Amino acid sequence: MEIQFYNTLTKQKEKFIPLNEKEVRIYSCGPTVYKNATIGNMRTNIFQDVLRRVLKYNGYKLKHVMNITDVGHLVSDGDEGEDKMLKSAREENKSPLEIAEYYTKLFFDDLKALNIETPEIVCKATDHITEMLEYVKKLVANGFAYETSTAIYFDVSKLDKYGILSGINLNEQKSGARVEVDKEKKNPYDFALWIKAPENHLMKWDSPWGPSYPGWHIECSAMSLKYLGEQFDIHTGGIDLIPTHHENEIAQSKGACGKIPARYWMHGEYLLINGGKMSKSLGNVYLLEDIIKRGYNPLVYRLFSYSCHYRNKLNFTWEGIDAASKSLERLKEGYKKHLLGEEQVNKEVVDEFENRFHKAINDDLNMPLAMGVVWEVIRYEKKSKQLADLLLKFDTVLGLKINEEDAKEQIPEEITNLLEQRSKAREEKNWAESDRLRDLIKEKGYIVKDSKDGATVEKIK
Ligand code: AMP
Ligand code: ZN
Repeated sequence: MEIQFYNTLTKQKEKFIPLNEKEVRIYSCGPTVYKNATIGNMRTNIFQDVLRRVLKYNGYKLKHVMNITDVGHLVSDGDEGEDKMLKSAREENKSPLEIAEYYTKLFFDDLKALNIETPEIVCKATDHITEMLEYVKKLVANGFAYETSTAIYFDVSKLDKYGILSGINLNEQKSGARVEVDKEKKNPYDFALWIKAPENHLMKWDSPWGPSYPGWHIECSAMSLKYLGEQFDIHTGGIDLIPTHHENEIAQSKGACGKIPARYWMHGEYLLINGGKMSKSLGNVYLLEDIIKRGYNPLVYRLFSYSCHYRNKLNFTWEGIDAASKSLERLKEGYKKHLLGEEQVNKEVVDEFENRFHKAINDDLNMPLAMGVVWEVIRYEKKSKQLADLLLKFDTVLGLKINEEDAKEQIPEEITNLLEQRSKAREEKNWAESDRLRDLIKEKGYIVKDSKDGATVEKIK
C-alpha cells in the first residue's frame, strides 16, 4: 500500500519511495545529554518510533541512526555561549564524561519505559572526532569554509541557496542582523564548523587549527555520511531544528558532497503544557518520571500522544493523562474480551478494519485516525479471537503492550512496616500513635484504608 509523508523540504505530502527497496535509511537527531529529557523531548522520540514501526508494518527493513550529542552544542544555537555539556559539568561538579554517561542512561531508561525501539545504530559525537575533522577539511578544500581567529566557519554565500527548509531570505535578514560575537564572520548566517578552544577548555582535540572542538551541526553530517552514505531516505527531528541545525546540515552536505543528504525531512511539532511553553521559570517542566510517580503506566503517555497528529501542537494536561489512562485500561479489557470470545467474524470485516488502519498509518502517520479504527474493533459487538489477533497486529505499530497486564503496584517495604506498626498501635488502643502513623504514611504518598478485614494502603494519585 502506498505511503505518503509530509516533506518539510517540499512542503507537501509525497509518495514515499525509498532509494533502496530493501532497506530504508533514516537519521534522527538525538539528545544533547546534559540534562534530563522532558516529556516534550519524548513526544519527538515517540513520533520517530511510530515512523519506524509503520515502515516495518509495510515490510521494510531499517537502518536507523541516532546520534548522542556529548560535545559542541553551545547554549545558543547561534554559536554563542558555553558548551551545554561543560556548563552542566560545572554546575553539577562532575566531569563532562560523567554527565554524558548519567544522562544518556536516563534517556535510554525513558525510551525503554515508553517501548521505543533503539535505532540500529546509536553513535556518540566524541567517538567521531576524526570523521568530523575530515569533513571540515573537505569543506575547507572545496572552498566552503574559512578561518577566523576564533573558529572555522561555513561560508553560506558560497552555496547556490541557503535556507531551503525554512525559506529564509538572506538579503532581508542581512539588514536586521544582530551584533555578531565574531566580527570576522563574513555573513550573518555563517556558522561554526570547528571552534578554537580557549585555554583550560575541558574538551578539546588537536587539529590543523590548534586545540579545538567541533561545532554542533558537523557531527550529524559526519555520522550520517559514515553510516548512511551521501544520500539516505528520511531525516527526522523536532520542529525547532528546521531553521538552524537542519539548514546547516544541508549546507554542509552540499559543500562536501554536492547533495541534500536526505530526500524526506520529517519534523515533529511541540508538546505544550497547559497551552504554553514548558519552562523552568514556570515550574512546569515535566519528566516521564513525574508521570510514573503519580502512579501511571508510562505507556499512558504514549497513548496520550496519539490524540493528536505529530505535525500539530499537543497540549499536555493531567486531565488528559488521566483520560488516556482509562483508555489504556479499556483497550486492554477490550482486547481480552475478544481473546476469550468464541464468535466468528467474516473475513471481509477483519480485512476492512485492517485496510482502514493501514491506510491511516500510511497517510503521514495519522494516529488519531488509526486509533478511531482501533476503538471500532474494540467495540465490535461480536467477540472473536480473529479481532484479538488483529489488535495485536495493530499493536506492532501502537507499541502499547495491550496484551500485558499492568504489574500490580509494589508497596515499598517502609510503608508496609509503618502499616504494621499502626495495626499494633490500634490493637493497643493507642489512637494518638495510630493517627501519627497514618499521617506519616500519608506524607510518604500513601493513603490508609481501614476495613473489617484490616488496613491496606493505596498510592495517592
Ligand atoms: P532540547 O533538550 O531542547 O535540546 O531538545 C531536544 C529535542 O527534543 C529538540 O530537538 C526538540 O526537537 C525536541 N523537543 C524539545 N522540547 C520539545 C517539546 N516541548 N515538544 C516536542 N519536542 C521537543
Ligand atoms: Zn542533527
